[in-house]
Amino acid sequence: MEKKIVVLAGDGIGPEIMASALEVLEVITQKSEVTFTFEAHDFGGAAIDSCGEPFPKSTLEACESADAILLGAIGGPKWENVENTPEKGLLALRKALKLFANIRPITVPDVLLDRSPIKEEIIKGTDFVIVRELTSGMYFGEPRFLGDTEAYDTNYYHEAEIRQIMRQAFKIAQGRKKQVLSVDKANVLATSKLWRRVAEEVALEFPDCTLSHQYVDSAAMKIIQNPRAFDVIVTENLFGDILSDEASVLPGTLGVLPSASYGETGIALYEPIHGSAPDIAGQNSANPVSMMLSASLMLRQSFGLETMADQIEEACFATMEAGLLTSDLGGTASTSAFTQAVIQRIQGEE
Ligand code: ATP
Ligand code: MG
Repeated sequence: MEKKIVVLAGDGIGPEIMASALEVLEVITQKSEVTFTFEAHDFGGAAIDSCGEPFPKSTLEACESADAILLGAIGGPKWENVENTPEKGLLALRKALKLFANIRPITVPDVLLDRSPIKEEIIKGTDFVIVRELTSGMYFGEPRFLGDTEAYDTNYYHEAEIRQIMRQAFKIAQGRKKQVLSVDKANVLATSKLWRRVAEEVALEFPDCTLSHQYVDSAAMKIIQNPRAFDVIVTENLFGDILSDEASVLPGTLGVLPSASYGETGIALYEPIHGSAPDIAGQNSANPVSMMLSASLMLRQSFGLETMADQIEEACFATMEAGLLTSDLGGTASTSAFTQAVIQRIQGEE
C-alpha cells in the first residue's frame, strides 16, 4: 500500500518543526507495510515569494491527489500588506478540500501541570476534543453589511450542515468515552434551536453514545472550572473559534497542540494550532511537539495506524518528562536536540 502525504511547511517556524516531524515519521514508518511518500509544495508566504501567490495551482493539484496533508504554519509580517495574503491561501485550501470540521484535541500531560494557569487538582487528566463546524455559520452567512451607522452579519445553518458535523463528532466520540456535548445558545438563537433538534436526531443513529447540551456561556466557564468533565464538544463555527482558543490556554503553551480538519473529499489536513511564530523563527528553538502530534493524529485518523501514533505521543511526552524542554516551557533544549531525543526513544523501543 502506498500513501502520498503532501507537505506544506509554510512560513516562520513552519519549516523547522515540519523537518522535525518528518524525521520522526520516516523513522517510525520504516517498518510499516504502508509506504509513505512525502511531497513538499510551496504554500503561504513562501509561495508568494517563489511564485507570486499563496496557493499556486500546482499545490492545489498535489493536495487534490493526496491521501493526507501536513501543514506547518503560514503568514508573518513580511506578507501583511500584500493583496493576496497567506491567510487567503489557507482559506482557499480549506474551500478546495471542503474542510467542514476542525478538530482540536486538548490534553494536559502531567509534565505540563505546573505550566498550566489552572490549578493542578483541576487540570490533571484533562483530555477532551473540540469539534468545530468550519464552513458555515456567522463567518459565511449572507447577507452581511457594514454601513456608517449600522452593520449586520447573518448566522445561517442548513440542517444538512449540522447533521454532517454532528455525525463527525459522534464518530470521534465512539473512539473515546462516548459522551457528546453539543454547545449552543438555544435559549436565544434560532440557529441554535435547529442545531439542538438535529443533534437529537443524529444521536439516535449512535445509540452507544450519550448526548447532552450546554449553553455556550456556561461551557466557556466549565472549560476553566472543570475541564476534566468533557469528552467531545461539538459546536458551530463562531462558538468553536472562541472555545478552542480558550481551551488552548490549558496546557500553558501553544507548542504542544495539534489539530485536524476533515472534509467531504476524505482528504484531511493536519496542522499545529499555533501560528508561524515569527518572533522565534530561524532560531532552532521552536517546540516541535505540536507538529509531531499532528503527524501522530494523521497516522491514527487517516490511516488507522494506532500503534505508531501512540509511539510518537509517548516518545514526545516521555522526552519532556525526562526534562528536555524547549524555551516555551522554560527549558533550553533546541528544536533539533528535542527531535533527536524523541527519535532515540522511538528507536530504543524497537
Ligand atoms: P496567528 O495569527 O498566525 O495565529 P499568533 O499571532 O496567534 O499567530 P503564534 O504564531 O501562534 O501567534 O504565536 C504566539 C506565541 O506563541 C508567540 O510568542 C510564539 O513564539 C509562541 N509559539 C507558538 N508556537 C510555538 C512553538 N511551537 N514553540 C514555541 N513557541 C511557540
Ligand atoms: Mg492566533
